[in-house]
Amino acid sequence: MKNINHKPIIGLEIHVELNTKTKMFCRCPAKYFGEEPNTYTCPVCLGLPGALPYPNKTANEYCVMIALALQCKITDFSYFERKNYFYPDLPKGYQISQYINPFGIDGYLNIKSSAQDSKRIRIRRVHMEEDTAKLIHPSGNQDEHSYIDFNRSGVPLVEIVTEPDIASAEEAKIFLTKLQRIIRYLGVSDADMEKGNMRLEPNISLRELTTENIKLDTEKLPNYKVEVKNINSFRFVEKAINYEIERQMKILEKGEIPVQETRGWDDIKNKTVSQRIKEEAHDYRYFPEPDIPPIKIDKTYVEKIKEKIPELPDEKIQRFAKEYLLSFYDSEILAREKQTADYFEEGVIIGLKESITPKQIANRMINDKTFNPETTLPAQLIEEMLLLKKDILEVITDEDKKKIETVIKENPQAAEAYGNGKMQVIGFLIGAVNKKLQGKKINPQLIKNTLEMLLKK
Ligand SMILES: [Zn+2]
Repeated sequence: MKNINHKPIIGLEIHVELNTKTKMFCRCPAKYFGEEPNTYTCPVCLGLPGALPYPNKTANEYCVMIALALQCKITDFSYFERKNYFYPDLPKGYQISQYINPFGIDGYLNIKSSAQDSKRIRIRRVHMEEDTAKLIHPSGNQDEHSYIDFNRSGVPLVEIVTEPDIASAEEAKIFLTKLQRIIRYLGVSDADMEKGNMRLEPNISLRELTTENIKLDTEKLPNYKVEVKNINSFRFVEKAINYEIERQMKILEKGEIPVQETRGWDDIKNKTVSQRIKEEAHDYRYFPEPDIPPIKIDKTYVEKIKEKIPELPDEKIQRFAKEYLLSFYDSEILAREKQTADYFEEGVIIGLKESITPKQIANRMINDKTFNPETTLPAQLIEEMLLLKKDILEVITDEDKKKIETVIKENPQAAEAYGNGKMQVIGFLIGAVNKKLQGKKINPQLIKNTLEMLLKK
């Protein structure tokens, strides 16, 4: 066995289905999830002879928007190409895609990991293509057929490809989480992996670091690459990467070179399995799509799209911390989803008039397990906070508060159940407090508010 170290070299390909109303090259609805199979089809997306594709302008715009959010350079000229291969989910025998001139190239996304405060992951390209039909293999019955659902055929799909700058499963997950947030902020896709809106393909190889080239740390890439196809969760990406690092290391330590191939992730056996030997790009015989004219992209168009890009998570976190004097930790939690961030800021405006600070609102939103933005409007939240503040200041005496605290201490199981979301135990606790008060009458709502406040500490 050779005594060598290995450095993982990881790149990612991410497919994102756009949430446009219609498909990429026809007017069939694009939101196919949960619909009766083969009901959203027409001659174009069924690949019938003579049917002509007509590109979806909104989809192109969304693709450029993603490219811009990832700091890509936008090409001023592009055209669609045919990527030829045979597979039952591809009725035309080719997929319309972009190869030579993607909409975006040379971008980046900075991430923060446990190893590095700021690391730049370069984006090689962002291009527009169409989704394939979906193959369905029923399991658990006698049916030995496979079925094809063409509802997905022709749904707008954006492919994002990174340079192999990722060095661990952790970094891959951080990158993907951040990318998913950006895409959701842009509003161009739900990026819901369970629904197949976002599909992930890591490629992994190991560079050997011998005593000599540790010093050199050459940027030369390994002479093989293993791609793991179509993973639909961040957790599986992490597992697949870690599994591949182990597997390839063992092969390299024997002095052999892993086979260049495509593998799949088996989430029952928790391992990757060989699927096919990797095709090179030239096997697809790309050529320009003759039925769609080339696309010119001028500066005004790009500027217009830039204006539509909202404040993205990173900027928002910085601003929240600075403007509202929040910790980066809190700012990050509030900025995870745009809806939460918007809710918070709406609350801040209302709260300011009532001398409730942004920090108090943030605390309530982050630490209060009963807080639900779907059932409480920001104005209601502020009202609740005011009520709580007033009641506690004006009526509850220290002595009564101590009694309520004792009741919580005496009923740890109920307190824990409440902490776990069992709100109904509050009734039991109010009863216990009344007993403890030995006939002294206090407004039950006030007891409830005080209990809630103490339980949430
Ligand atoms: Zn169609």
